[in-house]
Parts: sequence; structure tokens; C-alpha cells
Amino acid sequence: MIKNRKYDLVIVGGGVLGTFCAYHALKKGKSVLLLEKDAQPHEASIRNFGQIIPSGQSLENGFAWGKKSLKIYKELQEDADITLSKNGSLYIASDEAEMAVLSEMSEKFQALDYPSQLFSSTKAVEKNPLLQKNYVKGGLFFPEEASINPLLMVHQLREFLIEHLGLHYKNFCPVIAVEKKRGIAMISSANKQTFWGDHVILANGQDTQFLLPEHFPAAELRICKLQMMRLVPQKKQFTSNLLTGLSIRRYDSFKSCPSYSALKTTEEQKALQSKGIHILLKQAADGSILLGDSHEYVSANEQANLGFEISTEINALILREAKKIVSLASWDVEATWIGNYLEAKQDEVYTKTVDTVIHIVNGIGGKGITTSPGFTYDYIQKLFS
Ligand SMILES: Cc1cc2nc3c(=O)[nH]c(=O)nc-3n(C[C@H](O)[C@H](O)[C@H](O)COP(=O)(O)OP(=O)(O)OC[C@H]3O[C@@H](n4cnc5c(N)ncnc54)[C@H](O)[C@@H]3O)c2cc1C
Repeated sequence: MIKNRKYDLVIVGGGVLGTFCAYHALKKGKSVLLLEKDAQPHEASIRNFGQIIPSGQSLENGFAWGKKSLKIYKELQEDADITLSKNGSLYIASDEAEMAVLSEMSEKFQALDYPSQLFSSTKAVEKNPLLQKNYVKGGLFFPEEASINPLLMVHQLREFLIEHLGLHYKNFCPVIAVEKKRGIAMISSANKQTFWGDHVILANGQDTQFLLPEHFPAAELRICKLQMMRLVPQKKQFTSNLLTGLSIRRYDSFKSCPSYSALKTTEEQKALQSKGIHILLKQAADGSILLGDSHEYVSANEQANLGFEISTEINALILREAKKIVSLASWDVEATWIGNYLEAKQDEVYTKTVDTVIHIVNGIGGKGITTSPGFTYDYIQKLFS
């Protein structure tokens, strides 16, 4: 039945970008076919932290997309269980310089009408009793921020779209060619099927070597490998997601603060930064704790050069630093894994239209869970305007 039908939109890739493109197009009344190469999506959109943190994004676009995404997630959660947990994000400062940046950031967000609360060290520890008292100099709390369960969100959203909005979906469907033919997009799969769409969106993540590789230049795109851990389930004690001083140094929004340049980085912190480590902690609904992460980069198409190993050295560095920040009942590691994402080097997302009907939407980097719903809303409105 799917075979010969022409769709308003065909999407290649069932990650968070592809799935939210489908959502917004369906909401506009368009017919949509989503194609996924594997039994189920299992790349970055499933392997991530699941934190929705507009506060960390660039104040140019990322923050606005993040804010819009929060609204979309909250609206969606009313109709579908997309696992949203409204637990807020707390950035912890470990010295006065970090606190000065947090304080400036709080003022910036006040001016942008985005709620935040500046905490003294006592207040931060009161709110999160697991925090190590001697580490915390204060914190900045974003009560509106939230998180999703990355193992479930994309799958549950997709099921909702199939059941309630008429999404057509095909897994085990690796797309091997896209071209413009007879004025529309022709999409061919490895299992010798052909699909047609007025438009096709390529949201194919890091696998850029198969479809129009000439339009994914290494000069503009890179791949990042991240390493993550899950600690055994324990008593529910986290009252919010936790971010730390190295996150303050890493995230785009903070770079706009006058005090940012006064941040001091110790030799120990520099050693962590050389592996792209910053410490994030989140407690999942089952009590397990997600802890990460590290970042290593290669140019697009060179993922083989990132290697397949999980580095015990990186895990040890993350654990050592995390133990300075929180005190947990158990540090037993239940699982550890890697995840890769594609990142645009110059822009916040990599978009390109080829032959008027083929649209590349990719390279959203480390902010795909935070910004994809908002970004794809704007993108789909323009595509079908
Ligand atoms: C460890 C880790 C932690 C992260 N934490 C966060 C976080 O807390 N907050 C946040 O905002 N972001 C986070 N991110 C970033 C976020 O996960 C990514 O930005 C996002 O998942 C990218 O989504 P995507 O749809 O572009 O790619 P992907 O998830 O990689 O999806 C691409 C899909 O396309 C499919 N595909 C590829 N080629 C084909 C083909 N030829 N035919 C058919 N299907 C194809 C793939 O199988 C895949 O399912 C994290 C990422 C990682 C790795």
C-alpha cells in the first residue's frame, strides 16, 4: 500500500529531528512517510541524557528554539506519554568566578522573561541534599526546564503519531538514493522499494556517506563521540538535573557574560577539558543515575577514526570529578556506552536544499533534544508556506 503512493513529505531518519519534522508536518495536515534503516532508531536520539536545557544554548537561535521546544513538549505530554519530567536544571558553582557568571546569566534571563532563581550555597544544598557542602558556592536554578527518558521518548512519540495523526512509518528501510524525478522526490531503498514525495527531508544523523555525500562537506560538519554511564538505581533523591562549572565553561549562553573571561581553570579541570569532559547528573524515574559526559571530534565521514572503545580512563575521570560534587549511596556502574552526533561547525543546524525538493536537516549537535521540536516547527512552517 505504501509503495506507489506519493506523500507530501518523506523523511529519512527516525531520530528526534526526523520525528519532530513528521509531527509538525502532520499537524499541518500533510501526508508523511518516515523511513528508518534499522529495526528501531538507536543512535544519538536514544543514547543521550534527555535534558531539555534552553538556558545553555546560544542566545541567537538555540535559546528561542529551546524555549519553544519546552512548550511543545509540555503540550504533547498532555495528549501522549512522551515521558516528560518537569524537574528543572540546577547549575552548581564551585568558586566565586563561576558564581559571578551565574549571577550575570540570571540577570540576562530575567530581561528575557525566562524564570531562574539564584541560590546561595546553603539554599542549593537545602534543595539538593546530595550536594557536597564544601564544593558548592551557590547555584542557578531554572524551574521551567525538564527532561525526557531518552530510551522511550522518540519511540512513544512515533507511536502516538502513527496512532493519532496518521503517520506512515517503515523500519528496516535503508534509503540508498534520493533524486528529483518528474518534478518531485524519488526515494529508493536497499530492499528495492521506491517512494515518492513532493519533498524529502534527510535527517540521517552521522551516516552522511551514503546519500548525496558531496552535500555533507567535512569543512562544515564534524562528528562528536560522547561517553556516558548509568549508575545502579538508588533512593530517589535528586530534586533536579545537575550541571556544573565545566558546563558553564562549555555552554554557549554563558560565553556572552562579561565575567566569563575571568573564569579560572585549574590544571585538573584542564585535564578534564582535554577529553571534553563536563559533569552532568540526572536521576531517572527508576532511581538510576545518568552520569557523563566526554566529547571527542573528527570530521564528517571519519567516524571510524573515533574508534569503538569505551575508555576506562575517561570513565574514571568523570567518576572522580562527580564524587567531589555529590555524595551517592552507590557509585556502582550498571552500564556505559558511547553515542555519536553530527554537528554543524559554523551554524546551529546544517540545512541545505538540493534540486528544490531534497532538504538536508542535520548537524544539530549536542542540543538536539533541547531544540529539535522548536527548530523543526520553524523549518516545517517555511517549507510548506
Ligand atoms: C551521549 C549523548 C548525550 C546527549 N545529551 C543530550 C541532552 O541531554 N540534551 C540535548 O538537547 N541533546 C543531547 N544530545 C544530542 C542529541 O541526542 C542529538 O542532537 C540528537 O539525538 C540528534 O538527532 P538526529 O535525529 O539528528 O540523529 P540520530 O538520532 O542519529 O538519528 C538519525 C537516524 O537516521 C537513521 N538513518 C541514517 N541513515 C539512514 C538511511 N540511509 N535510511 C534510513 N534511515 C537512516 C539512523 O538509523 C538514525 O535512527 C546528546 C547526544 C549524545 C550522543
